[in-house]
Amino acid sequence: MTDALPARRLLLVHAHPDDEVTGTGATMAHYASTGAHVTLVTCTLGEEGEIHVPALAQLEARQADQLGGYRLVELSRACAALGVTDHRFLGGPGRYRDSGMMGLPTNEHPRAFWQADLDEAAGLLLEVIKEVRPQVMITYDANGFYGHPDHIQAHRVAMRAAELAGADGPAKIYWTAMPLSVLREGMEAFRELDDNPFADVEKVEDLPFGHSDEEIAARMDGTDHYDRKVAAMRAHATQIPDNSWLYGIAGDFGGEFMGVEYFLLAKGERGPGEGPHDWENDLFSGLSLGEPTAAEAAAI
Ligand SMILES: [Zn+2]
Repeated sequence: MTDALPARRLLLVHAHPDDEVTGTGATMAHYASTGAHVTLVTCTLGEEGEIHVPALAQLEARQADQLGGYRLVELSRACAALGVTDHRFLGGPGRYRDSGMMGLPTNEHPRAFWQADLDEAAGLLLEVIKEVRPQVMITYDANGFYGHPDHIQAHRVAMRAAELAGADGPAKIYWTAMPLSVLREGMEAFRELDDNPFADVEKVEDLPFGHSDEEIAARMDGTDHYDRKVAAMRAHATQIPDNSWLYGIAGDFGGEFMGVEYFLLAKGERGPGEGPHDWENDLFSGLSLGEPTAAEAAAI
């Protein structure tokens, strides 16, 4: 199986449909466009999401409970926009249910991802790891980036699966991250916006995410794929309303805020980097890889 795949293989483990776009969409589009194999594993269907398209409001969990099926379609459209063809749900669509926000009764649902047996869920991801043999895996930090139970669980499952894979697991594991310097600049810029997502935040250190520039390992410049990322966001219309501040940023600040994504290195050796903090500009940096396929060699 492996020899049929490109030399560079990237696995992303995300909690809900749409998470792949906001934190890692430009990175996915970048690697897909340069011929790497990009595998996205989404752990739930996102059944508990709010619905921002009024015409679809009755799909919500407490009414028809059909949002998950709809988001499956949104996700496939988003992947098409990003150029990613290998997309799977952990254990198949519907195996694990969106747990909802921390502390809600939905956390207790028998299929809630929050209730998943860790080794069982990790075993399902391990099957994907054995098949694709990714050298690089991306997931969240231990707080799930911002504390959602499914994000925390995605972190645990991904890290456990990598542990179970041992030497066959990814050589490098990254966690999505935001440098404090970028958050600080962002907060300044947002002060001008009517729809300021940081209106209640006094200083960036109060946010649940944010790392010092020294802690950040990689800065992925996907500004060339900024349009693809915005198109993928638009594909998640039930989740990201048309008037979202995210599009405000996209319009006002373009590539820098939407196309550049940052990562912490949780496992593996940091490869050669650049700039004052030696940030890697390629997640495969420092790895010895197999021979690129012709398509990959032509695109790199
Ligand atoms: Zn999520």
